[in-house]
Amino acid sequence: MNELQGKGIAPGIAVGRIFYYKKSGRQIRRTYREDSETEWKRFEEAREKAEMQLLALKEKAVKETGEEAAAIFEAHQMLLRDDELEAFIRDIIVTAKVSAEYAVFVAGEHFSEMLAGLEDAYLQARNADLQDVVWRLIRILNGVEDVQELTEPSIIVAEDLTPSETIQLEKSLILGFVTRQGSANSHTAILARQLSLPAVCGIETDPSWNGKPAVADGSSGRIFLDPDDALLERSREQQREEEAHRERLQRLKGRPAVTKDGRQIAVYANIGSVEEVRNARENDAEGIGLFRSEFLYLEGKDFPSEEKQYAVYKAVLQAMEDRLVVIRTLDLGADKQADYLDLGHEENPAMGYRAIRICLDRPEIFRTQLRAIYRASVYGRAAILFPMIISVEEVLQCRRHIAEVKAELKQEGIPYKDDVQIGVMIETPAAALISEMLAKEVDFFSIGTNDLAQYTLAIDRQNARMEAQTDMHHPAVQELIQRTIANGHKAGIRVEICGELAADTSFTKTFLDYGVDALSVSPPFVLSVKDAVLQAE
Ligand code: PEP
Ligand code: MG
Repeated sequence: MNELQGKGIAPGIAVGRIFYYKKSGRQIRRTYREDSETEWKRFEEAREKAEMQLLALKEKAVKETGEEAAAIFEAHQMLLRDDELEAFIRDIIVTAKVSAEYAVFVAGEHFSEMLAGLEDAYLQARNADLQDVVWRLIRILNGVEDVQELTEPSIIVAEDLTPSETIQLEKSLILGFVTRQGSANSHTAILARQLSLPAVCGIETDPSWNGKPAVADGSSGRIFLDPDDALLERSREQQREEEAHRERLQRLKGRPAVTKDGRQIAVYANIGSVEEVRNARENDAEGIGLFRSEFLYLEGKDFPSEEKQYAVYKAVLQAMEDRLVVIRTLDLGADKQADYLDLGHEENPAMGYRAIRICLDRPEIFRTQLRAIYRASVYGRAAILFPMIISVEEVLQCRRHIAEVKAELKQEGIPYKDDVQIGVMIETPAAALISEMLAKEVDFFSIGTNDLAQYTLAIDRQNARMEAQTDMHHPAVQELIQRTIANGHKAGIRVEICGELAADTSFTKTFLDYGVDALSVSPPFVLSVKDAVLQAE
C-alpha cells in the first residue's frame, strides 16, 4: 500500500479504480502561414465553434449541477471574446505569419505567465480557465476532440482538470477527483462540492496509476494506492455512514419539522441573492427567513434603482410561490462598505453609522427600498425586517415611512399588499432587553445571533484573533435569546433565529426548549436542522 498526502478540497471518501485522465491534442508546432487573413478567419470560425460548445456545456451544467457551475462556462465565453487576448492573437498571426493554433498557444502561454505572477490566489486559479479556453480553440483548429470515455465508476486522477473536462465526464461514473494542480478556490473543487464528490489536490500524479485500486479521502487530503483489506473495509464503512446520512436527510424533504412530542417549527433559508433561491428550494426550505438585501447594494457602482430592486424582490417572491420571504432592509456599514456610499472613516464602524441608522438618516434611500418591496408584495408573501434596532422610537419612525410609502403608492394607483408583516432584528443587547416593549410594535422578531454575540461579548466578529474566545453558547447570549423569545410570546408574536447559531444542531434542542418558532439557516444546513428538530423530544 502506498500513501500520499495532498490537500483535501472537497470532503468525502472515494473507493475504486483510478481512471487516469490524459490530455490529448497537446502537441503544437510553429507552422509558417503566409496568408494571415485566412488564418485569422480560421481563428474566428474556431471561436464561433468554441462558443457553441460552451453554450452546450453551460446547458448541461445547469441541468446537472446548477447555476453556479454554469457560470464557469459563461466566464469562458467572455474570455473567448476578451479584447486583449484577441488583439494579441491577431498580432502574432499577422506579424509572425504563423498558424492560428500556434498563435493561440503563444497567447495562452503569455497570459498564463502573467496570471501565475499575481499574488491573488483566486486570480491564479483562473489560469485553469484560460488554459481550458486556449486548448479548446487549439483542439478545434487541429480538428480533434479529446473527451475520454469513462466506462466504469472511477476515481479521476489527472495532472489537472479543467471545468469543461470535468463537466463532460459522465457524472454517474465519477467517484472523486485527485489532481496535482488545483486549490480550494479552483473550479474543480467547486464542482466537486456541488456534485458532493470528494476531491484532493497537491498529489504527484502518475499515468502508470491508471487502473490501480485506490482510496481518496477528501477530508484528510490523503490517497492510498493498492489499499490493503483492512483499509478498504474501514473506508467502505465510512462511506456507508456518509451515504446513509445523506440519504436519510434527503428523505426528510417534504416532511414538516416536528419534534417527537408534536411541536412544529419552521426551517427557513438565509439568502443574499435571487440566484440562491433555487438552492433554498432544492434543500426544502419552507421559506426565506432572511434575505440580506444589502448585497444588492454592494454589487453595483451606485444605489440600486427602485426598478432593479422591484425586479429582484418580485423574482424571489414568485420563485418561493407564496411561502414566506423575509426581506431585511439594507444592513450596510461596518464590514459591508461600498465606495459610492462614502460613509467616511469611523473609529468603530460596527458601532457607528450603519443599517437602520443610515436609513432613518437618509430617507430617500430607505423609501426607495420600501417602495420596491411594497410594489413586489403582490407577487407572494413578503415580510419586512429592520436591522440593528435599539429603540421603540426607531420602529415608530420606520412605521411612519411605511405609512407614507403606502399612501404614495395608493395615490399613484400602484397595487401593494396591505398586510405585509413588519419585524425587527434582535441583534443588540438593547433590543433584547427592551424586547417586551418592542414586541408591542411589530409582528415578529428575528434574533441575529452573529451581532448579538458580538455586542454582548464585546468581541468584534471580524477579528480572527478573537475567534477562539467567541463563545456563541455564552450564558449571557443565551439569556438574551431566551428573554426575547419569552417576551415575544407574551405579546403573541412569533420569534425566529437567523444567525449562524441557528445551524448549530447541538443547540437545536435548547432553542426548542426556549420555544423558538422558526430557525433560518444557509441552504445546505436546512435538512440537517430539520433532522435535529425531528430527533428532539
Ligand atoms: C446576525 O447578525 O446574526 C445576522 C443574521 O445578520 P448579519 O450576519 O447579516 O449581520
Ligand atoms: Mg446582523
